[in-house]
Amino acid sequence: MKYVFGPVPSRRLGQSLGIDTIPLKTCNWNCVYCQLGRTVPLTNERREYAPAEDILLEVERALRSHKSGEIDWVTFVGSGEPTLHTHMGELIRRVKDLTPLPVAVITNGALLYLPEVREELSVADAILPTLDAGNARLYRKINRPHPDITFERLVNGLITFREEYRVKLWVEVMLVRGLNDTEDALREIADVLRRIQPDEVHVNLPARPPVETWVQPPDEEGVMRALAILGRVAKVVHPAEGSFDLSGSENVVDAIVGIITRHPMREDELQRTLEKWEPGKANSVLEQLAASGRAQVVERYGYRFWSASPAHYPEKSSAKSKTPQNGESR
Ligand code: SF4
Repeated sequence: MKYVFGPVPSRRLGQSLGIDTIPLKTCNWNCVYCQLGRTVPLTNERREYAPAEDILLEVERALRSHKSGEIDWVTFVGSGEPTLHTHMGELIRRVKDLTPLPVAVITNGALLYLPEVREELSVADAILPTLDAGNARLYRKINRPHPDITFERLVNGLITFREEYRVKLWVEVMLVRGLNDTEDALREIADVLRRIQPDEVHVNLPARPPVETWVQPPDEEGVMRALAILGRVAKVVHPAEGSFDLSGSENVVDAIVGIITRHPMREDELQRTLEKWEPGKANSVLEQLAASGRAQVVERYGYRFWSASPAHYPEKSSAKSKTPQNGESR
């Protein structure tokens, strides 16, 4: 399948069937911790990146091929920022016509300052936007946004969405050591969160390969500080338990590429998934994957991660520290 992947285990949404409406990597941010490589070029152009009808046909097929209980959420997420697709409202509505399952949108939230984007997302069951900074300087440093999306626009968009619609709003804060895990930075984020009034705040730590090699998760103390300062509705999101579903494609290499394009996997995690899928064949499938030219290995935190080959990592190797205990980026 081209636009639908998984279900994959999601820390926040259980077994999540992913819908990816845009090509790798189409985004209006270029976050230092992004697991999908650098955004080249940065774009803020909204258009129909993939035909809505083709996406919906695949969603219908994927929903038909899974039994009740195998999927917890249907989630718009993927190779960049989903709200850059101009048919988001129609897509969410029509997916909801196809299934009683709840529909979520994982977004950076940067376009919520536009009334039409707020209206489009208002038909989902949950919106999961990102707020990593409480001031414009840190926002530019961590998220490296397109110049059209100022910090003020981001914050006002989130506040207005909350005021206008009762969709569940779960804000993610991705903590990066030395950037937003200090007391001052966290207090500023907490001030902004008080203005937004989200239903929940999910504290996340980078674990999948961050594009910039210097990105590190906070230490235990930094995580505790974040929980103490970000308030009552904040919780740390723990690593997801569950299995990756490789059934959605004609062959296993296609299925893996479908997942790692949106969700790079640690080599041992990939081996476990393959072992479960085709016992005894994990190594030969990995060899096929390497030979296909469609995947690359990126080293971070001393581990090998498999990612799609077009993803742009400026330095593929960094083996300085250990893998953190928690976390996945969007
Ligand atoms: S983490 Fe999300 S918002 Fe940030 S650059 Fe990557 S795809 Fe874009």
